[in-house]
Amino acid sequence: MELPIPDLLIINAAELLTLSYGLSTEDKEAEKKIGLIREGAIAAKNGRIIAVGRTEDLVKSLRVSKDTRQIDASHKVVLPGFVDPHTHLIFKGTREKEFLMRQQGIPMQRILREENTGIISTVRWTRKATFDELLDETGLHVSSLVDWGTTTIEIKSGYGLNLEEEIKMLKIARYLGNYTPLNVRATLLAAHIIPPEYHMREEKYVELVVEDIIPIIAKNKLADFNDVYCEKGAFTREQAKKLLQVGKKFGLRPKIHADEMSDSGGAEVAASTGAISADHLVYTTEANLKKLKEANVVAVLLPITTFSLGLERYAPGKTMEEMGLTVALGTDYNPGTSMSPSMPLVISFAVIKLKLTIEEAILAATINAAMAIGMEKEVGTIEPGKRANINILKIKHYEEIPYRIGENYVETVISNGEIMKGG
Ligand SMILES: [Zn+2]
Repeated sequence: MELPIPDLLIINAAELLTLSYGLSTEDKEAEKKIGLIREGAIAAKNGRIIAVGRTEDLVKSLRVSKDTRQIDASHKVVLPGFVDPHTHLIFKGTREKEFLMRQQGIPMQRILREENTGIISTVRWTRKATFDELLDETGLHVSSLVDWGTTTIEIKSGYGLNLEEEIKMLKIARYLGNYTPLNVRATLLAAHIIPPEYHMREEKYVELVVEDIIPIIAKNKLADFNDVYCEKGAFTREQAKKLLQVGKKFGLRPKIHADEMSDSGGAEVAASTGAISADHLVYTTEANLKKLKEANVVAVLLPITTFSLGLERYAPGKTMEEMGLTVALGTDYNPGTSMSPSMPLVISFAVIKLKLTIEEAILAATINAAMAIGMEKEVGTIEPGKRANINILKIKHYEEIPYRIGENYVETVISNGEIMKGG
């Protein structure tokens, strides 16, 4: 029988985290959970993984040609590319002034009276930018995420807030998915906030989203999901429910910003509309967590947002894990409340503030995050058949990931078999 010839071969990884229980060669339960293989190797061809195992065994099972790119990962940790299931990374301009004022304890109402503050200013700048200008700026944000090992990204609209501008944003998300090696899912977030031109006419805006924006975005296949910011000052639970149900009718699976600043009913809406994920969940109750679990909704936690806002209360990650919920982690990358592209930093926060174990946090940043965007069959683990999304870290043990806070030890980033950093 002819042996397969891979075009990419990674060998000698001190610790290969496949995130696939069945592939582990170790005995400890924690190590099985992350599918640990010592002295691990991965072979890939045409952007897909074709074999995974111990280096010794794997190299015997295939043939190397002059076209095979070999990477020696001795003394390094190898794991799947990170999956960031919650970002708002298409935007123009930054809001550092507002960030600094907030840290000084100046109340939000006063900050919002200043020029160039709040979501509205981002909406204004983003609307003004041409497609090409916005694509250029977005490219810079995406490069920062890749630099930290993210290869799969969910991207929301929500700074356009009218049909034309939401289309512009979602076309950029689709462009990134089609013309880069990254794996991208797009989410319509027309219900981010009420745009200024609809001030005191909230129901009119909901009507616009329901009757125009959702149907046209869905018809043109510009989004995979439909999201609502359910919170005081944004959209009520009744509005959220209606918006998500209409989206569902048009084939857009619901997602929701739920219970970020208060128990706003968002988790309940997620459970009752069959949302794929409920995100933030800082103020949600245990009764609501039960409903999320029963409805199989993934809990997406965004601890850097809490930190960046200078707040003390974090989402109850440990309780969620104990209750058996699927917990995922994301950056929430956005210019207002989380200007951080780093999934390794999110993992540090998950361990320090959400009290997740290191293994839970790594699962949450990869395969569970893939579940939050419906990509678990394609990304999030290192298994034959999956897309070759692989990170090589310049550390010897996976336990160092949360411990080296804010250090970028991500040396090589591979997405769909293409090397995007290092190599
Ligand atoms: Zn968000």
